[in-house]
Amino acid sequence: MGARAGLSASRCQEPRYQNGFDCQGLWVEVEVEKTLGFNSKREIESFGLERFSLACRDRVLHFAEVQTEQSRRLGQWMDWPRSYFTMSDANIEYNWHFLKHCHGRGWLYRGHRPMPWCARCGTSISQHEMLDAYAELTHESVTVALPLLDRADHCLLVWTTTPWTLPANVAVAVNPELDYAECAQAGIVYYLATSLVGRYPALGQPRRTVKGAELVGLRYVGPFDDLPVQRGVQHRVVAWQEVSAEEGTGLVHIAPGCGLEDFELSRRHGLPVIAPVTDDGRYFDGFGVLSETRALDAAATIAGLLKERHVLFARAPYRHRYPTCWRCAEELIFRVADEWFIDATEIRSLARAANEGVTWRPGHMQLRMDDWLANMGDWCISRKRYWGLPLPFYPCGCGRLTVIGSRRELRELAIDPGAADAVPELHRPWLDDVLIRCPECAQPVRRVSEVGDCWLDAGIVPFSTLGYLEDRQQWERWFPADFIVEAVGQLRGWFYALLFMSTALEGQSPYRTVLAHERVLASDGREMHKSWGNAIWLDDALEKMGPDVIRHMFASQAITEPMRFGFEGARDVKRRFLTFWNVYGLFVTYANLDRPALLGPDSVPTHSAPLDQWLLSRLQATIAEVREAFDTYQVRRAVAAVDAFIHDDLSNWYVRRRRREFWKAILDDEKQAAFQVLYHVLVRVCQLLAPVMPFVTEHVYQNLVPAVFPSAPISLHLTSFPEPDAALVRPDLEASVEAARRVLSVGLAARNAARLKVRQPLGRALLVAPPDTARDARLFERDVLEELNVERLETVASLDDQIVVTAELDIRDTSTLPPNTVPALRAALAARAGKAVRDSLLATGHVTLPVGDIEIALGWGDLKITVEGRDGFAAAADRDVTVALDTTMTPELRRKALARHLVHQIQMMRKEARLNVEDRIRISVDADREATEAIEEQSVYICAETLAVELRHGSPPPGWMARETDIEEAHISVAVARA
Ligand SMILES: [Zn+2]
Ligand SMILES: [Zn+2]
Repeated sequence: MGARAGLSASRCQEPRYQNGFDCQGLWVEVEVEKTLGFNSKREIESFGLERFSLACRDRVLHFAEVQTEQSRRLGQWMDWPRSYFTMSDANIEYNWHFLKHCHGRGWLYRGHRPMPWCARCGTSISQHEMLDAYAELTHESVTVALPLLDRADHCLLVWTTTPWTLPANVAVAVNPELDYAECAQAGIVYYLATSLVGRYPALGQPRRTVKGAELVGLRYVGPFDDLPVQRGVQHRVVAWQEVSAEEGTGLVHIAPGCGLEDFELSRRHGLPVIAPVTDDGRYFDGFGVLSETRALDAAATIAGLLKERHVLFARAPYRHRYPTCWRCAEELIFRVADEWFIDATEIRSLARAANEGVTWRPGHMQLRMDDWLANMGDWCISRKRYWGLPLPFYPCGCGRLTVIGSRRELRELAIDPGAADAVPELHRPWLDDVLIRCPECAQPVRRVSEVGDCWLDAGIVPFSTLGYLEDRQQWERWFPADFIVEAVGQLRGWFYALLFMSTALEGQSPYRTVLAHERVLASDGREMHKSWGNAIWLDDALEKMGPDVIRHMFASQAITEPMRFGFEGARDVKRRFLTFWNVYGLFVTYANLDRPALLGPDSVPTHSAPLDQWLLSRLQATIAEVREAFDTYQVRRAVAAVDAFIHDDLSNWYVRRRRREFWKAILDDEKQAAFQVLYHVLVRVCQLLAPVMPFVTEHVYQNLVPAVFPSAPISLHLTSFPEPDAALVRPDLEASVEAARRVLSVGLAARNAARLKVRQPLGRALLVAPPDTARDARLFERDVLEELNVERLETVASLDDQIVVTAELDIRDTSTLPPNTVPALRAALAARAGKAVRDSLLATGHVTLPVGDIEIALGWGDLKITVEGRDGFAAAADRDVTVALDTTMTPELRRKALARHLVHQIQMMRKEARLNVEDRIRISVDADREATEAIEEQSVYICAETLAVELRHGSPPPGWMARETDIEEAHISVAVARA
């Protein structure tokens, strides 16, 4: 993750900047096949393996370049020329080492068993590749009547959703414990599970019921006994505890060549195994008219053949979830094949123990991994394909299996060492021609043709890239990795392969912390699909959103929720970031005007106003929070902390309260200090955001720092990550601002409730608050008064005469209450004075109300307390803070209101005239006598606020910008001109 690497760099840790590319496996082959217009292994073989391998390599190299370029544009910080490629000989040799190790431990074996198989790709698919590749498919289901040999006119009813497997039938399984019914129809007796009789209405009522055990051993006529492959097969009923009566007939058709469970049953009962299809999914010779037919297209033909044989009892379409190929989406079949496996028995316990020590984010993933490990089967590592890790297995006719662990070993055992040397790369077809001499019997031995599961390539990386075999000390320095991140789906992919292989080799996890995030969806909440028009290509996103915004979207995404990636989300990020940009712009504007003597971005002034000290204190808290969040890989928390600092502290309070300070004409000590503080804070925020938004923060830094201090680090990304400075932490000031802002927000709520515009000055605000809140708020009283636009703030003992209190029931969750208590509570509440209810809450935190014989205690969260003003007061409260605003209008307040409105009008005119912030102006006003007097009285204020050097009276001079306006019942014409 770029954010993490950038962060580690700026914190003087020593990250590894090695990127890597997965280069081998079905996903590359299938794409190359598409490009070449192929759709089968036959086409690849006639094209030639050498050309095919070279085409795969070219594709990998091409897309590695594309991805490198895209990653760079995204700001991913890597030592790109040092990227590893899993198709390299080095990576392959490491996998050979791993496989030889497994062989040495007795874990490697060749198995002959049915595997999930993609007929298009011509290869088996392993358990972990299947889990996310299911589709809703409709198949033809058939119910077949199989006549019993031992009981004339008696038939077994068998149901299957894979009719293509029926020609390979050798047995029928029943559950010996289950009840089976004998049902007659047209002189024939049918057997099926009693509980499923209702599914076949034509059968009528059961004549009698027998236990499945009674059917075991009965012989029957198979559905395709006439096929050559069925010759000599004795079909019989076998017992199987797993047979359920939930679907079909409760009698299960068994074809050991077409299913793993069937296969295991065949071993237990000594049943023959008929493998019906070739590796491209067509019936072998010996299947009559079916031979050469694709198994997946055979359902209708099979049904027709069953009908001809008078054994088709019923047929119907059947919809179910069915596995498909993760690469080409072809539906899978099960097919008996010879495959190579790593026995998971010993590794399972090692891996589960290692997983215990891993920190997972989110935490519940640990259990999911444990569950997967507890249930994983042996790892099928072989693929009958071309472009991949060539399995270094050389099985000799004498029974000896040689597993080659390195290129050197290959040369030593090769019959012709020169041929081994001549292999240009460790891939098919070149390697296939190197024969070795069997160390046991000296016979020449050829490599098996299979290649390895591509997850081996991904899983070996903690060894192959860190010098495990060449420089153990170096490897030990880096292993295990501190942190890895991928999508949750990688639980059974990359996360699993890494853990499996590392515990197999070293008995420990290769990672300490794993972050598993949810998927990325389109903005409409669906998967992105080219054909749905909701996909966004990376180049497009980079162009229109920009890398910083994209990175911010991902960094601020909750990892447990699927991300909705779209332009709307990007606009939100931009909108939020604009706040910082505006603060930066404000600083640059005024700094250019005032030219303050800045001390360097790391310095803070020794003396500054409480507001500046407060901002620095908030900055320290933010730095501490961000560091803690990054250290624990909670990028979202870090982003949220910076975001909150920018909006709540920097923009909505500090800059809001400081803006006039910066605007005032003179550069005094206080303003000088404020410049230094804001400068320091802007650079710190850039440093905090640098891992997430590396480009825009660098841009700001370049303008703020090297341009002013040429000796400073030439890049933001070469500066150290900020550390909190305990000397700048001021809990007292933080408490004061918090108290002041709380009083202010209650005061503004009171204004709001009474619909009093903020521009209307008021005489006084009365405050009731706990003593420490009232005291704390006093330090920033001037800010409260200005923001609230009142003349005085008076702390009083009680506001009982100025406010009215009402209390309403506001219980969101009534499930914990006894039934029907809500109406009684409402009645009890109505009988109490609102003030009494609030006083009780203020005193004790709760209020008790009688309901029948019991009393129920309610807290603040259960009640809606409303405070309103009366008799010339506007009021509001937030729990223990109450503010009442005196709304009495005096002539003096009216005059002030008029002045404020006038200032507002002039400010808008300044903007309209596109005056620079520092431009001085002249003002001319024309109004009636009363308004003119008011303006005259307030002229100092008006001129200061608008940077006016002159305020004159009379009609607008020619050439000035003039506007007519109605202010406080007075009609005024205002004109302004640059001074
Ligand atoms: Zn496939
Ligand atoms: Zn041998």
